[in-house]
Amino acid sequence: MIAPQPITRLDDLVFDNRFIQELPADPENTNKRRQVYDACYSYVAPTPVAQPQCVAYSREVAELLDLAPSVCESDDFIEIFAGNRLSSGMAAYATCYGGHQFGNWAGQLGDGRAINLGEVINRRGKRWALQLKGAGPTPYSRNADGLAVLRSSVREFLCSEAMYHLGVPTTRALSVLLTGESVVRDMFYDGNPKAEPGAVVCRVAPSFTRFGHFQIFTARQDLKLLKQLIDYTIRTDFPELSVPGPNDSSVSLYLAWFAEVCRRTADMVVHWQRVGFVHGVMNTDNMSILGLTIDYGPYGWLEDFDLNWTPNTTDASERRYRYGNQPSIALWNLGQLANAIYPLLEEPNLAALQAALNTYKETFEQGWQAMMADKLGLQAFKPATDHDLCTDLFMLLQSVETDMTIFYRQLATINLDTGLADAQLMAPLAAAYYVPEQLTVAYQTQLCAWLRRYILRVLADAVPDETRRKRMNAVNPKYVLRNYLAQLAIDQAEQHDFTMVNELLELLRHPYDEQPDKAAFAAKRPDWARQRAGCSMLSCSS
Ligand code: AMP
Ligand code: MG
Repeated sequence: MIAPQPITRLDDLVFDNRFIQELPADPENTNKRRQVYDACYSYVAPTPVAQPQCVAYSREVAELLDLAPSVCESDDFIEIFAGNRLSSGMAAYATCYGGHQFGNWAGQLGDGRAINLGEVINRRGKRWALQLKGAGPTPYSRNADGLAVLRSSVREFLCSEAMYHLGVPTTRALSVLLTGESVVRDMFYDGNPKAEPGAVVCRVAPSFTRFGHFQIFTARQDLKLLKQLIDYTIRTDFPELSVPGPNDSSVSLYLAWFAEVCRRTADMVVHWQRVGFVHGVMNTDNMSILGLTIDYGPYGWLEDFDLNWTPNTTDASERRYRYGNQPSIALWNLGQLANAIYPLLEEPNLAALQAALNTYKETFEQGWQAMMADKLGLQAFKPATDHDLCTDLFMLLQSVETDMTIFYRQLATINLDTGLADAQLMAPLAAAYYVPEQLTVAYQTQLCAWLRRYILRVLADAVPDETRRKRMNAVNPKYVLRNYLAQLAIDQAEQHDFTMVNELLELLRHPYDEQPDKAAFAAKRPDWARQRAGCSMLSCSS
């Protein structure tokens, strides 16, 4: 069969804007800030910008939309994805949602700086919603400007694509554009506002529905709209659940749907723990109903393994969203979603809802065990021995500054000979340590004792060592979007040099490959980046 020609004009994209066709609109059409009732969205107008310029686009995401590369290099592309005009079939709207922020109910939030452009149906029949982030105020902007700065936009663009190539469920990013206008931000909320270059990212996902979309209607006791949105979501985003059968009564369908959301969320968080990704702001408005990583704000990548680390200075005192807490926060968030859908189930179903929520714990535990077995190159996770093996490893990794990514990658290369002297045994791991003075003799002895235990455990599997290495290298990335690398790319982009943004995009297309000519990007964080803003500390200001 001859592959269809790619689309060479944006006006030829095919839209089926089901969200706005099937759900009620806010009757008011202005961008004025307000509380919006009885509606799932408001029509809005993106704010035109002076001099848009493309920083980078993702060719894989363009392919998902059937777009020819030439389209992404065109002036039309820049005008449309900067928000200056809509192409044929597009409709601009912002959606209404609420959410729990840092554990507290925050009321209406909504797309304060996201503007949806509609839903493309690609030639394989797949639905892709497009959304601009940073294209100006909407009714949901509260006291903020609806804009985004280049640094956070580059971070969102690169990380979305990096996560995808790492195999982590995520929203995607088509493009990042400079607007040619400046945006004032007080980066650390410390009275130092500064003009920064403004930017717009175009995000792409099957849908952008969040837990908070359901919560807002329950909070307002608008059960009619709650039911309408749930029915719509199941029909559109979970069509496999809608087939007639045991789930055809609405209560069992809702329970099956909620259990599926629990499963997907668990799967996503297992991946986060695997690659050392810390989301930073796991508020319920930042949780995708599809189990996708969404809303890349003050996220970060673990450098030295630390269960207590969070990149988000706004959360520095409580550390609610620290690395080691992500699995239990996801459960808490699912508990809030369960509260939101409970009014549609009757009292006798409370136990069933709890059982569905338990799906999260079960899926997470199973997924986590399988993931750890893969990371360590074991055939399967054997709880009797492997729980302790992991706990002891985490204790060792945490007690001296150890680069997580380098450690696991290098662990694949160790010599499986328990008779080696300590120095030889641990030599392949040397590149992972940040502070050589921390490697006391006592520490080395402990580490080597663990390594010998690990070797015996691996030998008990009796698989060829080559198999172990391959298994490990398929789940332990060589390259991640190290915080300081993103910052270096941003520093350059702020000087209108987009080379490094595009170089990182290319590098992170193949995170598990050795790419020897790019090995410098696999090195541990340089010392200058230890305390630099943007490298180790980020805030919600973006
Ligand atoms: P976040 O913590 O970034 O997920 O944002 C929480 C809420 O604040 C969401 O409703 C966002 O749309 C909104 N928000 C964040 N930044 C801005 C901004 N610059 N302008 C308008 N709304 C914003
Ligand atoms: Mg958000």
